[in-house]
Amino acid sequence: MVSTVRLVIDKNDTWSWNLCRSGIFSTKSLTKQVMVKCFPPSASNVATQRNNFAPIKVGVFLWRARRNRLPVLVELDKRGIDLHSVLCPLCDKVVETVNHALFSCDKVREVWVKVLNWWGIDSSQHDIDNMLSGNLPLQCSKVGENIWQAMVWISTYLI
Ligand SMILES: [Zn+2]
Repeated sequence: MVSTVRLVIDKNDTWSWNLCRSGIFSTKSLTKQVMVKCFPPSASNVATQRNNFAPIKVGVFLWRARRNRLPVLVELDKRGIDLHSVLCPLCDKVVETVNHALFSCDKVREVWVKVLNWWGIDSSQHDIDNMLSGNLPLQCSKVGENIWQAMVWISTYLI
């Protein structure tokens, strides 16, 4: 659906901003419309997700990863860059996508298992994908949940 921004001149020759009910322009209403139109609601929630335990560059990296904006081989190929192969250079078995490069490659899985072992978590007892999507295998406080999330984010960044 395409919507247009219209400024309506009423009978008193005034301007009306149709993107909000009051008819008064505000940068907040414009920002809200840009976010809704440019990013799906689920993506816009992720875009604003922050963690005070993780550096900003890590948050930006994850923001890019969630939108497939990292220069993995399949994305470079889509942009017309001539590549010898789009297979993952680590395992040479599967096309290198963002998800494969950061989470599902067998070589990367080995790193995740070590990270989880460092936390005292037996990765054979838990679903790694479930944990990486934010579900903790441990009972802990809100601060502990934030630390867990920061650990997952930073580990993803470093991988
Ligand atoms: Zn791989």
